[in-house]
Amino acid sequence: MTDIKKSLSILFFLCLAVFLCAGQTTKVKIPTVRLGFPLKCTIGKDCWILAYPDVDNSKKWKDYKGGTRTYNTHKGTDFVIKNQKRMNYRVPVVAAAHGRVLGTRDGLKDINVKKIDKKSIEKRECGNRVAILHGQGFLTDYCHMLKGSVKVKKGDYVKAGDLLGYVGMSGLTETPHMHFSVQYKNKKIDPFTGKFIEKTKIPALNRSLWKPEVELKLKYRPVFIYNIGVTAVKPNDVEMQEGNFEQQDIKKNSGYIYIWADTLSIKKGDVLKFVLTDPLGRVIINKKSVIDKPNVRRFFYLTHKNIRKLELGQYNAKVLIYRPAKQASYQKTVDFYVID
Ligand SMILES: [Zn+2]
Repeated sequence: MTDIKKSLSILFFLCLAVFLCAGQTTKVKIPTVRLGFPLKCTIGKDCWILAYPDVDNSKKWKDYKGGTRTYNTHKGTDFVIKNQKRMNYRVPVVAAAHGRVLGTRDGLKDINVKKIDKKSIEKRECGNRVAILHGQGFLTDYCHMLKGSVKVKKGDYVKAGDLLGYVGMSGLTETPHMHFSVQYKNKKIDPFTGKFIEKTKIPALNRSLWKPEVELKLKYRPVFIYNIGVTAVKPNDVEMQEGNFEQQDIKKNSGYIYIWADTLSIKKGDVLKFVLTDPLGRVIINKKSVIDKPNVRRFFYLTHKNIRKLELGQYNAKVLIYRPAKQASYQKTVDFYVID
């Protein structure tokens, strides 16, 4: 090989190397961040998804499965715990992935927004909060935390699963829950689909942002009963959320049994059923009603009057919701005693 040929081939390989390197640096990087579960509780047992992000940008609302388990302009996922009694026992909020704390807020009261002037929390609707930057353009935000519980400060480095604080009800909320939102490149994104829920020209990621095991745990249910209970005194939704009217023994001379259900995302045409079974396994109440209007969350109860005639012993109350169009149903049961 002549010197010129040698130089030319070296030049050729140099050019090829530069070309390949340049090709690699301009290649679009697919972000690898995967989110862990942001709470320490068991989905379906002591915490539930109350609302998903609204993926419909009109005045209507739609969750990522085309259902109504959301409300208009909702930009996060609401993880709800049973009631305020459970809140006071503390449910940990943890970092969904490694990252650096971008900011925090603490000091706002835990109170049902129905009991205060909404203006007093203007621009602080998220309540006590932590925001974490994860790199690759991701940010997670944790809202409504318990007053005085925020454990991290701006600039702290946190690992996935590190304690950030506890579930509370500060800011714009009627019930203890954690509003969890995710941003990618400064725009809110639905972690269930990787699609943006704010207008942007950035291409969507089009995949779940959850770790596979978390995605499995968060399986979507079109109809859902959040909580049920049995009580001898007439229940209402406000006190129910404070942790009252939980399952209890019913005294025969109390006169009444109330079976209540806290339902989510009901639609017109859904069928709600209350079933009461006595200690001998006989069905003594089987009451069906058809839902008249849609609601994100609605409280129902059934009154049973003639309880003096009842046998003593263990009873079972069942509440079932059924959506004929989807052939989807969900039920919850509770055992209780009728005593002397
Ligand atoms: Zn929310």
